[in-house]
Amino acid sequence: MTTPFDPRIVQLVMALRSAGVSDKAVLSAIERTPRDLFVPQGFQDQAFENRPLPIDCGQTISQPLVVAKMTEALQVTDRCKVLEIGTGSGYQAAVLARLARRVYTIERYRTLAREALERFSALRLTTIVHRIGDGSVGWPEQAPFDRIIVTAAAPKMPIELLGQLREGGICVAPVQNGPVQTLMRYVCHPDGYSEEFLFDVRFVPLVAGAARAL
Ligand code: SAH
Repeated sequence: MTTPFDPRIVQLVMALRSAGVSDKAVLSAIERTPRDLFVPQGFQDQAFENRPLPIDCGQTISQPLVVAKMTEALQVTDRCKVLEIGTGSGYQAAVLARLARRVYTIERYRTLAREALERFSALRLTTIVHRIGDGSVGWPEQAPFDRIIVTAAAPKMPIELLGQLREGGICVAPVQNGPVQTLMRYVCHPDGYSEEFLFDVRFVPLVAGAARAL
């Protein structure tokens, strides 16, 4: 495991800054999250490079720049209750846990959820609550949320998820837009939702339906 001042983390944070990430709290959260813990053995040498990497079950840990920009767009404070759809390696949830009051994260693959949970325990991230299941329907028992982040791309924004956002809440999600995926930001207003296009992204698909036994 890495200390926060591992030179590779410092270099990664510098790369994120020069790519336009300016939120100090987000950069500090990334600096305090050892990405090597979240990537498979065979990719340890690339753990701090600014690129997505394969994880178990044919899924991907996102590129650090995308994690940073999505986290920045979410405007998380220590008063926020955050819902994440697509735990994957657990890296994004761990970054969010440094900023939020509590993080709820849902994953459809049992294997990935179990591995992520072990990492959360190793890092003593006790404010993350996880669940195995179909995240496209959100987590109604825990709603409303101040923030929702979706880390898999849906053909269109699942309406059930937006319905679990508190008034004034923010949701950031990649949505399929013809041949490309675009990262969208939704804000919940008393009379509906505003939507804003952020930038193009590439995520694995959000698969609706029952959780995987794997
Ligand atoms: N946030 C992750 C990246 C995850 S990749 C990280 O930091 O590593 C997207 C994840 O979404 C995959 O693990 C995939 O299994 C999961 N996923 C896809 N559809 C889902 C659904 N309907 N419910 C829950 N998880 C889903």
